[in-house]
Amino acid sequence: MSDGLPAPLGLFGGTFDPVHFGHLRLAEESIGHLGLGGVRWIPAGQPPHRGAPQVTADQRLEMVRRSTAGNERFSVDASEVEAAAPSYTVHTLERLRRELGPTQSLVLLVGADAFAGLASWHRWADIFSLAHVAVSHRPGFPVETGSLPPELASQFNARRLSDAGSLKDAPAGGIVTFAMTQLAISATQIRKLLANGLSARYLLPDSVLDYIQTHSLYRNS
Ligand code: ATP
Repeated sequence: MSDGLPAPLGLFGGTFDPVHFGHLRLAEESIGHLGLGGVRWIPAGQPPHRGAPQVTADQRLEMVRRSTAGNERFSVDASEVEAAAPSYTVHTLERLRRELGPTQSLVLLVGADAFAGLASWHRWADIFSLAHVAVSHRPGFPVETGSLPPELASQFNARRLSDAGSLKDAPAGGIVTFAMTQLAISATQIRKLLANGLSARYLLPDSVLDYIQTHSLYRNS
């Protein structure tokens, strides 16, 4: 907190099919690196950018709830899962902006791979009028303008903030990068292991693995 303004709020969307330690460390480390008051997890309902997930939206939501339970800085937003329409980030940000008011600093958290695809998102350029964007490093996905499509590279160069401390000074519009512990874990890898009857232990929380086993999820790819 400074100047009486609430700390920036992190917003972390994803398919979380299933949630794993890469996601959890990204959210946890973003709080310290970016000075966030907390992180709101927003599991996607019907993700528009990829094929249908293998488990239901309610099951993915439940796994996120289990993995984040007990962390007072984390909250879970079920609105995209409960919505009938596809999940577009820009709509979610418009709703959160109405809910939280014009001055709250909002920071959309994305991994480097997701950021590289941002220019294909619905009304992507409007995202910057609604939130800042914080890009975490991810193994195999460099955060460099040379690896971005030109229209995104120019936004990146124009909006880049050298100091994450400035995220609190405006409600939206900046881009920052942050280096988190590099964990080469993906939900794809976990789904493959489980489909092949192999162990995914230590890649995701035991509470999530218990849920997967109890409900016989990801047995067939
Ligand atoms: P999949 O393998 O099914 O594509 P995923 O592991 O990439 O899934 P998502 O739910 O698609 O997980 O990712 C949600 C967000 O978390 C994205 O912004 C993504 O870049 C980020 N992310 C996922 N895994 C990591 C990781 N290991 N390190 C850093 N960021 C990650």
